[in-house]
Amino acid sequence: MIIAIDGSAASGKGTLAKRVAAEFGYDYLDTGALYRAVALSLLNASVNSNNIDEKQAVNATLTLDLSLTQTAEIRTDKVAALASIVAAISPVRAELLALQRSFAAAPPSGKGAVLDGRDIGTIVLPNADIKFFIDADLDIRAERRTKELLQAGQSVMFRDVLADMKARDDQDRTRSVAPLKAADDAITIDTSKTDAAAVLALALSHIDRVGPSE
Ligand code: C5P
Repeated sequence: MIIAIDGSAASGKGTLAKRVAAEFGYDYLDTGALYRAVALSLLNASVNSNNIDEKQAVNATLTLDLSLTQTAEIRTDKVAALASIVAAISPVRAELLALQRSFAAAPPSGKGAVLDGRDIGTIVLPNADIKFFIDADLDIRAERRTKELLQAGQSVMFRDVLADMKARDDQDRTRSVAPLKAADDAITIDTSKTDAAAVLALALSHIDRVGPSE
C-alpha cells in the first residue's frame, strides 16, 4: 500500500503522514527533508543563497549526505526558504525523484509506504493507492509554525514567519516544474479548524474504504 500526502507548509501533512505510517506499521519518508538537506549542504558550503548556481545545487544533490535529513539544522526558516529555491531546479528534482520512487517501491518494512511532500500524488507516485491533499488558512499555518519554532528554541516573530511562508507557498505553487497542487484524484482535507486526531480519523476512514492495509 502506497499513500501519498501533499500539501502546503505547516498544513499538518507531516503529522498526518507519521501517524498514518505508525497506525499500519508502514515506512514514512519526509521528502521535504531531502530538499532541506540539499539546501543545508549548500549553506554549509557557504554558497551565496541569493544567487544559487544550478551546477552547485545539482552537485550538492549528487553528493548529498542523507544523514542531514535527520538533523535539527534543516528545520529553520532560512533552510526552508533555500529548499524552495533549489526545489525549483529541474535536475535537482530528477535526482531526488529516483530516490523517492525506490523508497516507495521497496519500503524497509516490506508492508507499505507513506510519503509526504508537494508533488507525491502528481509526479512521484501518480499510481499511489490513495492520495491526500492537506491545506489550511495561511494565518493558522503561520501561527502553528511560529509556535513550533519557538518551542524548538528559535527566536522568531509571527509576521516574519507569515511573510516567509507566503513567499515559499507562492514559489512552490507557481514554479514550472512539479508545482504544489492537488492531484485530480486526491482527497482534500482542510485542517484549519480540525485537530490532528480528527484529521487522522478522517484519513483512516478514507484509507479503510480503499481496501486492505497490506
Ligand atoms: O515540506 P517542507 O516544508 O519540509 O519542504 C521544504 C521545501 O521543499 C518546500 O517548500 C518545497 O519547495 C520543497 N519540496 C518540494 N517537493 C517535495 C517536498 C518538498 O518541492 N516533494
